[in-house]
Amino acid sequence: MITQSQKYQNILENNLKEIDIKLSQPKLEALVEYMHLLLKVNKSINLTRIVHPEDFIDKHLIDSLTILPLIKHSDQNIIDIGTGGGFPGIPLAVATPKNKFVLLDSTGKKLRVVEQIANEIGVKNITFVHARAEEASRLPAYRDHFDYAISRAVAELNILSELCLPFVKVGGELIAYKSEPIQKEMAKAEDIIEKLGGEIIAKKELRLPITSSSRVLIEIIKKEKTPEQYPRKFSIIKNK
Ligand code: SAH
Repeated sequence: MITQSQKYQNILENNLKEIDIKLSQPKLEALVEYMHLLLKVNKSINLTRIVHPEDFIDKHLIDSLTILPLIKHSDQNIIDIGTGGGFPGIPLAVATPKNKFVLLDSTGKKLRVVEQIANEIGVKNITFVHARAEEASRLPAYRDHFDYAISRAVAELNILSELCLPFVKVGGELIAYKSEPIQKEMAKAEDIIEKLGGEIIAKKELRLPITSSSRVLIEIIKKEKTPEQYPRKFSIIKNK
């Protein structure tokens, strides 16, 4: 008889195959364990609304991993802005242990829970940072520092770009997890992206293998350093 854990590992493994991603057994096991532990604490602290395991596997675990083909090297500095329940940062950190991750969120309570669970599943390549993005990107150690900034479900692309691009080094990228319709949001963000030193270079459309939900990954390259005046205060970012 196979255990419930093995069953979910098989579902994860088989559906990752559909998008050409292969993970070792220990990594599959760690991801399913993360799901179990997160859903357990989710009963007392609200971290996700997606509580059905197959939906969780698709919309959290697999969705987070869809950018893997876009990340070219294995020793990259990656920051996940507004990680919430640990997405996309935790699945990516498990899948690529040689990359170094910073998981940032402005809500300390959630972040501490995610850190605790990450420790329990034994993932080591993560630093947790409790801060607002627009303040943390002013820190010299973080500004123009990361090969990739990644973010899902945090803000519209114009706001998101101002929150994320200051962290990215010249030549690095912001990859935003989005879904259709995105054209208007992209058009609205073009001006500010240019001012921040960035440029949209690709839009990759895909479907999640289990639920067939459509997704879009927006790749924004940083061509020049972000001017000192950015990011502005959040109240200003939001209203302009
Ligand atoms: N990325 C996760 C969570 C999305 S919810 C997922 O896709 O499931 C949005 C998260 O962004 C929340 O946890 C919130 O605390 C965080 N957040 C919103 N604005 C932020 C800011 N300016 N700086 C840091 N974190 C922020």
